[in-house]
Amino acid sequence: MKASVIGVGTELLVGHTHDTNTAELAADLLAHGAEVEVSFRVADRIEPLVRELKHALAHHDLVVTTGGLGPTPDDLTREAVAQALGVPLEPDPAVLERIRAFFERLGRAMPEVNRRQAERPRGARWLENPRGTAPGFLWQGGGKTLVALPGPPEEWRPMWAEAKRQLGLERRATYRKVLKTFGLGESQIAEILGPLYAEVGSYSKPWGVELVASDEDVAKKIRKKLKGKIWGEDEDTLPGLVHRRLLAEGRTLAVMESVTGGLLAELLTDVPGASKTFRGGMVSYTREAKARFGVPSEVLLAHGQVSEATARAMAEAARRTLAADYGLAVTGVAGPEGLEGHPVGTVFVGLATKRGTRARKYRFPDQGRERIRMRAAYAALAYFWSEA
Ligand code: AMP
Ligand code: MG
Repeated sequence: MKASVIGVGTELLVGHTHDTNTAELAADLLAHGAEVEVSFRVADRIEPLVRELKHALAHHDLVVTTGGLGPTPDDLTREAVAQALGVPLEPDPAVLERIRAFFERLGRAMPEVNRRQAERPRGARWLENPRGTAPGFLWQGGGKTLVALPGPPEEWRPMWAEAKRQLGLERRATYRKVLKTFGLGESQIAEILGPLYAEVGSYSKPWGVELVASDEDVAKKIRKKLKGKIWGEDEDTLPGLVHRRLLAEGRTLAVMESVTGGLLAELLTDVPGASKTFRGGMVSYTREAKARFGVPSEVLLAHGQVSEATARAMAEAARRTLAADYGLAVTGVAGPEGLEGHPVGTVFVGLATKRGTRARKYRFPDQGRERIRMRAAYAALAYFWSEA
């Protein structure tokens, strides 16, 4: 079954109202096995509304609209649907009484404009709205189905549930596995996976590339091919995994960060219960701060602020100063200017443990300060995950 979802309202086009309805309905339709091909927004104007409704009905088996069922002159969904279907609008005295009663319960007389809400395109069935005045409707004919719902989510959700019941739409059991990688670009992953790559969705995030498989067998094959590169699945987060690892080991972590300016500490403290494993951190944004926080001046003099040696010394200083089991450090260049001869996007991560200290260099593309800092913070967490 092919479906489309239409949000009605000029305010949706310009973002005065954030259109959440179309995405929510599309996701729900997909979960019910419908093939949602398009979702879009249309202004409160009769001509484009009729045109787009006709087009949607010509190409899809099911068309769902939200909004434009209010009582005011800019609410045109009823008229537009009737015109698109080529049928008249008909008043329903019983519904008019119900709307009148709705106002009576609020101790008010029904405004005359609300009369329009008791009209429906000929042949449509009402969808009752227990939470507002605007009823919706369901129309079927010639193999096509149209469901018109009001705009407010708390009003249309129960009505949509009723429409699905009437249409016999049942939720499908769907498989969805998110595999989270770090350290590989999308093109590298495509190379490693070969034809398997076409079987997954791939999304680049600051914490690495996420692969979404909708088949258990595909997920299994990907796990095998990307062994060692997948740090988590589904709801896993890097800070969460780092916390869980430390908790299991009964160990603690301290950080010193330059380029990320506290972002690493923020990510680590986003995890509930972080104080059990995260001792704290230092933002050593200047050369002086690095020296005062315990990075040896000789190291800074010989290697500069952005270097593997300094990342190592920062990690050791964090570990020592806060008496933690692990010290994790990040230094680099977020731009817009390069630093000490390093291009924008150069990042070093250091990790100090009781067995020794290591560091690694990363080169991120210059996609702006915010993106580089975010990727640097996640690189530090991923480095800890793979090396600690
Ligand atoms: P309407 O039925 O067009 O008068 O819409 C009434 C109210 O429903 C709006 O003021 C919004 O608060 C809400 N609404 C309408 N359309 C949407 C949408 N696409 N996404 C989220 N909320 C919406
Ligand atoms: Mg509206």
